[in-house]
Amino acid sequence: MNFYIMTLFPEMVMDVLNTSILKRAIDKGTIFAKAVNIRDYANNKHNKVDDYTYGGGAGMLMQAQPIYDCYKAILEEIREKNPEANPRVIYVTPQGKVFSQGMARELSLSEDLIFLCGHYEGIDERVLEEIVTDYISIGDYVLTGGELPAMVMIDAVSRLVPGVLNNEESAQTESFDDGLLEYPQYSRPEVWMDKKVPPVLLSGNHANVDVWRFQKSLERTKERRPELYDKYIEGHPEQFTAKALKKRNKILDKIEENS
Ligand code: SAH
Repeated sequence: MNFYIMTLFPEMVMDVLNTSILKRAIDKGTIFAKAVNIRDYANNKHNKVDDYTYGGGAGMLMQAQPIYDCYKAILEEIREKNPEANPRVIYVTPQGKVFSQGMARELSLSEDLIFLCGHYEGIDERVLEEIVTDYISIGDYVLTGGELPAMVMIDAVSRLVPGVLNNEESAQTESFDDGLLEYPQYSRPEVWMDKKVPPVLLSGNHANVDVWRFQKSLERTKERRPELYDKYIEGHPEQFTAKALKKRNKILDKIEENS
């Protein structure tokens, strides 16, 4: 999978890409990432890429032309490999749909993705209309630039690309995968600061471990994200019938007895 990041601060992006799991994936060739400096496409001798906003208001706006030329250069590079390619162009913006694990999964199916990072007050609307296919936000707050949001999205998308995580880091059962938050987890030692690992996790009884984990996921989601919990119950009525509850509670009682 190939990521292209249009930015005025490529070093900020490359610092993140050159670390840990993303770096390993790039070194292996599982993902490819390239930060392209929009300033390289400024067509004036001072390399200026921003200007005042028509109609007044504080702050500078990124101008259309350098962004458009930068996009054209990236598109040409992508089409050298695949003349048919029509890559999505994501403008990271607080004015977008809020990013989620489901969106990450959907984006991870793409061959090429282009991210556009704004700075200052934002970007001239006309170039957005011309090139952007998706407007995505990382949350309801405003940052100084789009580099961190783009890295958040690239990180979340990359770890879903087959081969990026190894088995030990598997992305199989995680928060949000089934609409619930993940259960609590423990590693060695068995006792730390007088706190014991829940005995069921040491029991070797995988069916019981599954029931216990599911119960903890439910409790945690109910406490921390009640709106997700309600949605889950609505979507999975079969897990909350009297019969299903009775079966689970019996196992949970037994687990309780043994701890
Ligand atoms: N004036 C703009 C905000 C500009 S912030 C407005 O009111 O919408 C500068 C840049 O940071 C934006 O162009 C965008 O690329 C990025 N940015 C800021 N907050 C963001 C968020 N929550 N999600 C995604 N990108 C964001």
